[in-house]
Amino acid sequence: MKNTNNYIFLMEDLSKLKGIGSKTVKILKKKKINNIFDLLWRLPQSFTDRSVLSKISELQIGKIHTLKIIPKKYNFPRIRNLPNKVFCEDDTGNIDCVFFNSYEGYIKKILPLNQEITVSGKVSYFKKKYQLTNPTYISNNSSLVQALHNKYSLTDGISEKMYNKIINQVLHKLPSLTEWLNDKILKKFNNISWNESIIKLHDPTNIGNYNSNFFKRLAFDEILSSFLIFSEVRKKIKKIKKNKKNFTNKYFKNLIQKMNFKLTNDQVKVLEEINNDMKSQSKMFRLLQGDVGTGKTIVALISSLNVIESGYQVAFMAPTEILALQHYNLAKKIFPRNINVEILSSKIKNTKSKIIVKKLTENKINIIFGTHAIFQKKITFNNLGYIIIDEQHKFGVRQRKLLSDKGGSNCDTLLMSATPIPRTLTMSIYGDMDVSIIKDKPKCRKDVITYSKVESKIDEVIKFVRKNIIENNQIFWVCPLIEESKKIDHVSAIKKFQYLNKIFPNEVAIIHSKIDDNEKEKILLDFLNKKYKILVSTTIIEVGIDFPNANVIIIENTNKFGLSQLHQLRGRVGRGSKQSFCILIYKSNLSENAKKRINILKKTNDGFEISKEDMKLRGFGDILGFKQSGLKNYRLADPIQNEDLFLLAKEEVNRIEKEEKNLKKYKTLLKLYDQADIINDII
Ligand code: ADP
Ligand code: MG
Repeated sequence: MKNTNNYIFLMEDLSKLKGIGSKTVKILKKKKINNIFDLLWRLPQSFTDRSVLSKISELQIGKIHTLKIIPKKYNFPRIRNLPNKVFCEDDTGNIDCVFFNSYEGYIKKILPLNQEITVSGKVSYFKKKYQLTNPTYISNNSSLVQALHNKYSLTDGISEKMYNKIINQVLHKLPSLTEWLNDKILKKFNNISWNESIIKLHDPTNIGNYNSNFFKRLAFDEILSSFLIFSEVRKKIKKIKKNKKNFTNKYFKNLIQKMNFKLTNDQVKVLEEINNDMKSQSKMFRLLQGDVGTGKTIVALISSLNVIESGYQVAFMAPTEILALQHYNLAKKIFPRNINVEILSSKIKNTKSKIIVKKLTENKINIIFGTHAIFQKKITFNNLGYIIIDEQHKFGVRQRKLLSDKGGSNCDTLLMSATPIPRTLTMSIYGDMDVSIIKDKPKCRKDVITYSKVESKIDEVIKFVRKNIIENNQIFWVCPLIEESKKIDHVSAIKKFQYLNKIFPNEVAIIHSKIDDNEKEKILLDFLNKKYKILVSTTIIEVGIDFPNANVIIIENTNKFGLSQLHQLRGRVGRGSKQSFCILIYKSNLSENAKKRINILKKTNDGFEISKEDMKLRGFGDILGFKQSGLKNYRLADPIQNEDLFLLAKEEVNRIEKEEKNLKKYKTLLKLYDQADIINDII
C-alpha cells in the first residue's frame, strides 16, 4: 500500500522499519544515516544477478547459483564444531545446505522437508558432494530470491542481504509526494515524478546512469531546495534593519602611512563594497574570496577600523591560535594607540580571560581576536558591530550560525576564504552571501618555484637549505600528520627538529599544537625577528600565517596532502619580493594521483586552476575540507558535472522570488532536504 503524500514516513527514525535491530540502527547512524530519507541516497555500487535458475547438474564450483530444491533429510550432529546439514535434491541431482552457527529449529523453519524452496549462494564441493554453505538467500517465495540484488558500499557490520531488505522495504512504502516542481521545469526531466525517480535510482540496472532524467530530477530537487533555503535566509537577514555605520575613514588615512605598500586595485574595490554595505541599513553578509597572499587581512583590518570609528566592537575569528595571534600582533602594530586590541584563546589563563570577558561586556575592548573561543556562551559583547571569520571554510555551519546569533541586530559579517572555486560551487555553498573577489596579487610578487625530491635525496635538500641560510633566508619545514591523528602530530616534527638541530645548531625552532600559547607567541616573534632560520612545524601553519621573509618551504611526505592543502601550505612563502621556493619531499612509491598533484603544483601557482584540478582528481565532496567542516554537501548533485542544473535552479529561484507569494508549494521538498533544519523557522 502506498502512502499518499505522507512525507512524514521518510523522516521517521530507522527503528520504525521492520526487522531492523538496534545494532544495525547504530551502525547506520555512524554512517550519518539518521532517518529513512537518508537511506535513499546510498546508491547501489553493483549487483549480484541471482535471477537465473540453475539445475544441480549444471552447477559450477565457486560460482553463485540460484536453485529450486527440495529438502529431504536433516543431519544435526550432536558434536561441537560439526555443522548442521540439510540434504536436498532437484530432479537432476543433490546438494547439501550446510549451516554453521544456526539452530535446528531455525533450519527446520526455513527448509521444511518436501517443499520446494529457492536458495541462492556460492557453490562449493566437499567429499564428492555439492554444498551451499550458509546460503545467502533462502525462501519459499522465489521472487524474493530470483532477482538482481544490489551491492552497497556500506557492508561493515551490515550484510548485503540485510541492507537490501531494509531498502526494499523503504522503496515499497515510498510515499507519492505532491509535485513541487513547476510544469516547465518538470518537462525538462520528461515529467518523471520524485517517487518514480527514487525507484529508478535503486534499480540495479540503472547503476551509473547519471545522465538520465530520474537522476537529474533528483539532483535538481536537491539544488533547488538548498537555493530556496539560501534565498530565505538571505531575505531574512536583509529584512532586519540595522543602524547605518557612520565613519570618515580617518583611521585608514593614518594607517596607510604606516604601511610600506599601496593597496591593489582589487583591495580598494573590495573595501568599497564592504564600506557600502556597512553604511547601508541592511546587514552585511559577505564573502571575501582571494587566493593565498592576495592581502585579505589588511582589508579586514581597515574595515574594522571603520566599524570602531562608528562606535562598535569587532570580533575577528581565526581557525588556529597562531593565526589569531598573528592578526592580533599586526593590529597592535598598525592600529592607533587609543584602540583597545585584545586576544582570547582557549589556552589563555583563566584569570586573564575573566578580565577580558569583563572588559568586553563593558565596551572597553574595541577589537578582539581569537579562535572560536571568542564565541563561547559566557562571552557577551557590549556593542558588537562586525564579525570577521578568517579562513572560514575551516569552520562548521554550526559555528557559523552560533556566531551570527551572537551578532545582534547591528552586526555585519565578513567571511574570508582563500580557496578560489568555480562559480557554480560558490553559488552552491555560499548562495546566501554576497561575494567580493580579490584577483590581483600585489605587484612585487614572483611565482614560487616548486621542486620535488625523493626522500632518499635529503642530502640535496639540506645543501639547498644551507645555501639559503647563508643568504639570510628563512625556511619552513612542514612535517605530516602521523596516522592522521592530531594527537600525535607533533611526534614527527620533534624528530625532524632534533635531526635539523644537529646539522644547524641554534638555527632551528619548532612549533606544534602541544606548545602553549605564550611559548608559541615567543617562538613566532623570534622567527619573525630572524632569530631562527628554520621553523619546523606541523600543518598548523597551513592556514593564514604570514612571514614575508620566509622564502623556502619544505613539505615532507607530500603524498599525505591534497592538492589544495599543498597550495595553501606553499602560500606561506612567496609573500615578499624575494624569489621563493617550495620543495615537495616524497617517499619513493608515489601513487598516480600523487604524481599528478606534484606536477600540477610545479606547473602553476594559480589557486583557481589548482582547485579545478583538485576537483577533477578528488571530486568536489572531498576538496577544501568541506567534509570536515560540515558545509553543504550534495548527495547527488555535482557542481562541476551538473553546472546546467545549478544555473537552472538559480533561474528558478529568481522566478519563485518574483512570482510566488510564499513557499507553501515547496514545504515537502524543504522539510525533506533541509539537513540543517534551517527552514523550520521560516515556513
Ligand atoms: P591572505 O590574503 O592570504 O590572507 P595576507 O593578508 O596575509 O594574505 O597578506 C599577505 C602579505 O601581503 C602580507 O605580508 C601583507 O602585508 C602583504 N600585502 C597585503 N597587501 C599588499 C599590497 N597591496 N602590496 C604589497 N603587499 C601587500
Ligand atoms: Mg589570510
